[in-house]
Amino acid sequence: MRYFCHDQPDVLTVETRVMDARPGAVLLERSPFYPGGGGQLADRGVVRWPGGEARVRAIELDGERLWHLLDEPVEIAGAVEAAVDRELRAVMTELHTDAHVVSALVFREFRGALITGAQLNADGTARVDFDLPDADNDRLRALEPAINDVIGQDLAVRHVYAPVTDAATEPGLLRSRSVAPPPSADGLVRIVEIVGLDRQACGGTHLGSTRQSRPVRILKVDNKGRHNRRIRFALAER
Ligand SMILES: [Zn+2]
Repeated sequence: MRYFCHDQPDVLTVETRVMDARPGAVLLERSPFYPGGGGQLADRGVVRWPGGEARVRAIELDGERLWHLLDEPVEIAGAVEAAVDRELRAVMTELHTDAHVVSALVFREFRGALITGAQLNADGTARVDFDLPDADNDRLRALEPAINDVIGQDLAVRHVYAPVTDAATEPGLLRSRSVAPPPSADGLVRIVEIVGLDRQACGGTHLGSTRQSRPVRILKVDNKGRHNRRIRFALAER
C-alpha cells in the first residue's frame, strides 16, 4: 500500500477532483487522508465543493483507493478540496512515533518481544501490547526514562522502502505478531527508521525527528492474558 500521506505527510489540504461517487461517499483523484491501521485512527476532515462541504466521518479502503464516507447523503462531482483535521493527525503522528520508541526499547530489553496490538487515542494516550509471557511489569514501567531519553536525543525518523524478503534476515523488521503491512505492488514494504535505534515496517504517519514529540509518561502496565503485557502511555506536558 502506498498513500499520498506516505510521500507528503505534511500536505493536509489538496485541490483535487471526484473520480467516482455515490450518495454520501466520494473517491478522489488524490487524497491527503490516512485510512487508519496499525493502531492509528483514520484521519477526519472535510470535503468542500463550490457551494457546500461535508465532514469525512470514515475512510473505506477499496484496494489502494480511499472512499471518503461523508456525514450527509450528498453526491458530488467535479473539483473539490479535501482537508484533513490537523489536530487529530498531529496527535496521532506524535503518539505513533512514540509507540515506535516504546516498542524499540521493549524489543531491545526483552529479547525480541513482538507487538500483539496497538491503539492510539485522540486524547493523547495510547496502548501497545507485547508478547511478553515472563516479563516483570516493574521492569517495563522502568523504561520511561529511557523512552524520554531517546525522545530528547532528537533522532531523525525517515521512511525507506525495502524488499519484503529483507524481513527474513532482519529480526524485528516485521514487529507485529499479528499484522504486517501488506507490500505494495512492487514487492516493497515501507520501513520506518528511527536512525540509530530501530527499523520496522509500518504504514502510519510519524514525526521527522523524535524531539518533535512531547515526553511521555507510562500510565500503567497490565497483564492481558498469560502472554501479553499492555503498556499504556500518555503525552506529558512540555
Ligand atoms: Zn509507525
